[in-house]
Amino acid sequence: MTASLREFLDGLTVASVLTTVVDVALVYYLIYRLLLTIRGTRAAQMVVGIVLVGAAFFVAERLELSTVSWLLDNFISYFIILIIVVFQNDIRRALGRIGQNVMPFGRRQETSQIVDEVVAATAQIARARLGAIIVFERDAALEEFVDDATRIDAVLSRQLLVSLFVPARDNELHDGAVVIGKNHRIELARALLPLSRATDLGPEFGTRHRAALGITEDTDAVAVVVSEERGEISLCFKGSIARDLEPVLLRRALVGLFAGGRATEDMAEEAEAAAEVGKALATLGEPRADARIDPVPERAEAAEAMQ
Ligand code: ATP
Ligand code: MG
Repeated sequence: MTASLREFLDGLTVASVLTTVVDVALVYYLIYRLLLTIRGTRAAQMVVGIVLVGAAFFVAERLELSTVSWLLDNFISYFIILIIVVFQNDIRRALGRIGQNVMPFGRRQETSQIVDEVVAATAQIARARLGAIIVFERDAALEEFVDDATRIDAVLSRQLLVSLFVPARDNELHDGAVVIGKNHRIELARALLPLSRATDLGPEFGTRHRAALGITEDTDAVAVVVSEERGEISLCFKGSIARDLEPVLLRRALVGLFAGGRATEDMAEEAEAAAEVGKALATLGEPRADARIDPVPERAEAAEAMQ
């Protein structure tokens, strides 16, 4: 043992150590990026499943359970093909995102323009007393959570957003939600979102607000919702709803949420934005008794994380 260790140490050169360090660092970075990419999606659960199958395979080999390891061996070969087929969209997006991350210049600027257009559209929609849901896709791909939608794929503008919610009889697109993709384009309209499973929302929350809340329970998306009945603008994220926001406040919260950073930076800004919305609403407390952040009880954990 010691002899082979000595032999190994003797064989080490500066170049080989450097190569190993670079090698390990690269693998570490790749796995880290992969985990960041699947964060907040169902793929994360799949990865846990795959790791479990891998562990079972290892144990079966060790214990020389030949039939079990034969089964798992075959299963794993087909499983890789299965994964590629099931996740083809996500893989395509992930590769696209690698390209985006290599060229992040100007994204912050672009984000602020997008937020401005959305806030202006929201204010106009609220003034006109039209109902609306505008969902921003973040890390998790929203398409698999949306039932029945019409693909728009258009440059985002205030005018187009407003016109997508005009409830004319011949405007078939006005119902449901508009989804703004990661590429900052209007991706979908007339999207049917999953309804919130919360059981104790106020009576003023109809299906529109439940739908806006629902998509933020399953994913890391952010949804802006305008009430047709009250002309009230609310912001949903992580299963919580910040109600009755003035456009200025909505803008500040959205800018915080989309400040362009990732991972820890993201989390910090998110928490800051949430705290700011809460603080601002608290100071408005007197004249606006109904303005508040309502954490949905089942989602209390998420709300706590935002504090
Ligand atoms: P408001 O305050 O505007 O009345 P609300 O929360 O009371 O909103 P409803 O009055 O039930 O909700 O709103 C109905 C509208 O909500 C529908 O016309 C449709 O546009 C939208 N909506 C309903 N269900 C969904 C869904 N699953 N996904 C997206 N939009 C939906
Ligand atoms: Mg209603």
